[in-house]
Amino acid sequence: MRIGHGYDLHRLEPVAPSGHGRPLVLGGVRLEHDRGPVGHSDGDALLHAITDAILGALALPDIGQLFPDNDPRWEGADSRVFLERASTEMRARGWSIANLDATVVLERPKVSPHKEKMRENIASMLGIGVDRVNIKGKTHEKVDAVGEGWAVEVHVVILLENA
Ligand code: MG
Repeated sequence: MRIGHGYDLHRLEPVAPSGHGRPLVLGGVRLEHDRGPVGHSDGDALLHAITDAILGALALPDIGQLFPDNDPRWEGADSRVFLERASTEMRARGWSIANLDATVVLERPKVSPHKEKMRENIASMLGIGVDRVNIKGKTHEKVDAVGEGWAVEVHVVILLENA
């Protein structure tokens, strides 16, 4: 077995036209909000953290090395492309996902109404059962920039097993 850890944070800014925030998307689910992530790709911090967890378990270069943020190919990219690449690398090496557990830290809007759709999306992208994917939503208790709603933060751990 192998274990991987992934972490990501994206700054949240007012969405266009008043700011540079992109629409807020987490786990491929669009959340209605007046702030959104600033990022080179679509800024889906949940998919980025899962991608890095898989790559980390495989001891491969991380998401920033594989998909540099100065490469115009990834400007506004759908982050499922990154996850699918990590998944392909994983399967090519004979590994599969035993389970993954993610914590999304977001002051608002609430993550809980979207958790099931996020789980379904991620399970579908990875070709695994929904019972292997867990999402937890937490606030940052109004503390620091995350708690003031200026960033979204995601932590992921993943366990790989021989396919
Ligand atoms: Mg990111």
